[in-house]
Amino acid sequence: MRRVIIIGGGVAGLGAAYKVARAAAEGHDVTFELVEKDPRLGGKVLTETVDGFVVDGGPDCFLTEKPAVHRIAKLTGIFDDELPTDDARKRTFILSRGRLHDLPDGVMMFAPTKFWPFATTGLFSWPGKIRMGADLLIPRRERWAEGETAADHDETLESFVVRRMGRECLDRLAEPLVGGVHASDPAKMSLAATFPRLLEMEQTYGGMIKGFVAARKKVAEMRKKYPPKPGAKQRTFFTSFEAGMGQLVDAMADAAGRERIRTGTGVAEVARDGAVWRVVLDDGTSLTGDAVIVATESWAAESLVRPVDAGIADALAGIEHSSSATVSLAFDESDVGIDMDAFGVLCPLIEGRSLMAATFSSTKWPGRAPEGRVLLRGFVGGPHNQAIMAESDEALVGIVLSELRDILGVKGEPLMSRVYRWERGMPQYTLGHLARISTIEQRSAQVGGLALAGGSYRGVGLPNCIESGERAVSTVLGEWGITLAEDAEEQKRYY
Ligand SMILES: Cc1cc2nc3c(=O)[nH]c(=O)nc-3n(C[C@H](O)[C@H](O)[C@H](O)COP(=O)(O)OP(=O)(O)OC[C@H]3O[C@@H](n4cnc5c(N)ncnc54)[C@H](O)[C@@H]3O)c2cc1C
Repeated sequence: MRRVIIIGGGVAGLGAAYKVARAAAEGHDVTFELVEKDPRLGGKVLTETVDGFVVDGGPDCFLTEKPAVHRIAKLTGIFDDELPTDDARKRTFILSRGRLHDLPDGVMMFAPTKFWPFATTGLFSWPGKIRMGADLLIPRRERWAEGETAADHDETLESFVVRRMGRECLDRLAEPLVGGVHASDPAKMSLAATFPRLLEMEQTYGGMIKGFVAARKKVAEMRKKYPPKPGAKQRTFFTSFEAGMGQLVDAMADAAGRERIRTGTGVAEVARDGAVWRVVLDDGTSLTGDAVIVATESWAAESLVRPVDAGIADALAGIEHSSSATVSLAFDESDVGIDMDAFGVLCPLIEGRSLMAATFSSTKWPGRAPEGRVLLRGFVGGPHNQAIMAESDEALVGIVLSELRDILGVKGEPLMSRVYRWERGMPQYTLGHLARISTIEQRSAQVGGLALAGGSYRGVGLPNCIESGERAVSTVLGEWGITLAEDAEEQKRYY
């Protein structure tokens, strides 16, 4: 029996564990042992139910168009618990020059695709709008040679948006909307590693507006061609689960087999002796296995992997992280004093606020608050405000509350508050990220029996993280000549 040791019990580690369990169920002679240093599983995924409020401290949803979470939900029997957003109440505000503006209808990422809402919005100045419209006339920067990809023509989000749509578009729309998703600094963020599609769009269509108008038409055509089946669940841009994102973690851990998962003791050391891997835990005990999947944050992986391969560790050291916190506040609906018919507000950096964004959690997700109560959640921190992380929980609650009062006009006193800190919780895909990842992957393949997985590498979204865990398993099993039937099925779909 071959044993895979998985380090880290976030969605990437659990995705790996569940994949090994499926390989065993297919009849392959493999098993796993997962070690998580925290007393609980889930890593950045953390849901708590407090006084009837369902509070997500980390991610509160996943991108619906990505298949991995749906696939796991179907396999584990929680697909019917997938929760779409309440789009009847969909509205997003952006703070601009101290005032709230609606995100204009038709804006996709940072490109307007409908003339009238763009022309009439007060979000941009007239010179700003004219500069954004100039995207229609500015030619593509260069033509890629045959076989070249976005990775060969990388640039930062800032450089791309400023060159195509102007500085005002970056400051007032792209930074909070696109940079905010990654809690990243647009001046450092690699576009090829985060949104290669934008670079590809410029190649194909010559500009962002043309590209997104074409994308919008395509979506409309697909919707017409494949209308939702009668009685089928509504599909919205983001999806969550009835019991919060923690439901996914529980389902994966149950399906993988909790008896092979240990929590509350971390891995202190990883070593290889010939074909045998030895993993020493913080309590001094050790495990041996035939392969190791390191599914921790890259900064935690660095020290574990260094004795095995310094080249991998050096590349890992090049991946920066930023810290952030979410602060959830509950109110009586009659006290809160604001129109709750919105999903949230974005606060561009240029506004100089402590709050990066806030979500109206109980509006966006039905069932997050008891009847007559509402739940709001604020984000603070990010690469431009690391100092705020030194504040106490009490101070963070005070800061977020005062920002919500000032920006949205929130009144009343919170009935309940929760602070979740994510120290070095968000990897920064800076320029050079893809080269670092290639180094990590190539060198790991040479070591043999070693793979890395998680949000630090090829996508921070939950579906990407799960897939990275699954890919790591396919890699190590492949080295033993094992191909899973489900992977072969997947191959058939593409070839
Ligand atoms: C505030 C916030 C909001 C987010 N919102 C969204 C969202 O809405 N949608 C979305 O798709 N994504 C979102 N993300 C991103 C997403 O949550 C993460 O990318 C993803 O959860 C990372 O999963 P992971 O398994 O790679 O890593 P993690 O969840 O970080 O798991 C790594 C685990 O390894 C453990 N570990 C570390 N060192 C050791 C050791 N030595 N021994 C044993 N265990 C160890 C850690 O304790 C941790 O549990 C958000 C992230 C944050 C921080």
